[in-house]
Amino acid sequence: MTSATRAFTKRTIRDLDPHGKRVLVRVDFNVPLKDGKVADDTRIRAAFPTLRYLIDRGARVIVVSHLGRPEGRRDPKLSLAPVAERLRQLSGWPVTLAEDCVGPKAEHAAADLMPGEVLLLENVRFHAEEERNDPAFAKRLAALAEVYVNDAFGTAHRAHASTEGVAHLLPAYAGFLMERELTFLGGLLEAPARPFLAIIGGAKVSTKLRVLESLLRRVDALAIGGAMANTFFLAKRYDIGKSLAEPDQVGAAQRILDSGKDILLPTDVVVAGSTAAPNGEVVEAGRPVGGMILDVGPATIALIGDEIARSSTVFWNGPLGYFENPAFGVGTNRIAQLLAESNATTVVGGGESVQAVEQLGLADKLTHVSTGGGASLELLEGRELPGVAAIPDAT
Ligand code: ADP
Ligand code: MG
Repeated sequence: MTSATRAFTKRTIRDLDPHGKRVLVRVDFNVPLKDGKVADDTRIRAAFPTLRYLIDRGARVIVVSHLGRPEGRRDPKLSLAPVAERLRQLSGWPVTLAEDCVGPKAEHAAADLMPGEVLLLENVRFHAEEERNDPAFAKRLAALAEVYVNDAFGTAHRAHASTEGVAHLLPAYAGFLMERELTFLGGLLEAPARPFLAIIGGAKVSTKLRVLESLLRRVDALAIGGAMANTFFLAKRYDIGKSLAEPDQVGAAQRILDSGKDILLPTDVVVAGSTAAPNGEVVEAGRPVGGMILDVGPATIALIGDEIARSSTVFWNGPLGYFENPAFGVGTNRIAQLLAESNATTVVGGGESVQAVEQLGLADKLTHVSTGGGASLELLEGRELPGVAAIPDAT
């Protein structure tokens, strides 16, 4: 495997002697729920290396997370109880749930915690002070522990009390997931093995313009797919029928086309009357579109496949079609498979694109699948994430 990693400069839990200490660990257990149960436990399992490391060394582990958007009010539907249950089942660790994340109940539970035990605090966003990064609230969280570990990469782009504020009040360290995410995603920006290809799909140019511009400075080739490609087609004055596009982003698309980089647009597309259609028709890009473009065609898949075969590093974000309907998930699925078979360093980040890789059971075959949607994109825009910035550098 070609390595695209860089030295991670922050202090990590390897620099910490956790024995007997009360350690407040911020994780991202913001998992999807269905019928009161955890529907996907990827994010719970992603925190295991850090939690296990601390438990094995006799730490008293106090875990804090948010779940959903309770808007600062207690909402029983967004309780972390189902997460506590799944964490217990998956790990076999003694896990108890505190009724609140601050105050007497949390304080007593934290005080009673024995080495090797886990206390999961109730949803930190039940308090409006969390998202306001209220200093007094951060102080109440910090009062529960002696040290702080941040392993919540998926929330690192937010400066909240439990992700940023508390890092200034306790000795702060990065967890293993945080380190891994920063190493692989940061490595794309710093020292990617070349040639470096980025494949960007998804719905909109506008939400990804900054990441496109940042990647454009670093990649050797950029492949565009998904509904995003339609805006590029508009820039080329191609007919796109009633496809999803952003006419106000045509100028931005044109600037990217004029960047001098190797930009691969779809050469053929799959067209149908609606997103619910049972199938579509392959049309050469630029030909009249009697309906909407919902996927990339076979020639485009082959073209991107050739580019993947030539590359030493590939980053992928955003589905290449309306993959929620399997009839238009062919491009997305094929690209996921080609990446899984590739010897390149392969990194996938985003919401729906990660979901596609997980659904296909291919996550283990890729170098790195990010657990952070918004956080991974903000990092690739070249921005410093507040939750990372607050952790001191290793000396
Ligand atoms: P990610 O979450 O991976 O960053 P986005 O949120 O940008 O991706 O976009 C994902 C959405 O884009 C999916 O819901 C998918 O259906 C949609 N999409 C992709 N291609 C098309 C298309 N040709 N027409 C309509 N929607 C599309
Ligand atoms: Mg998305």
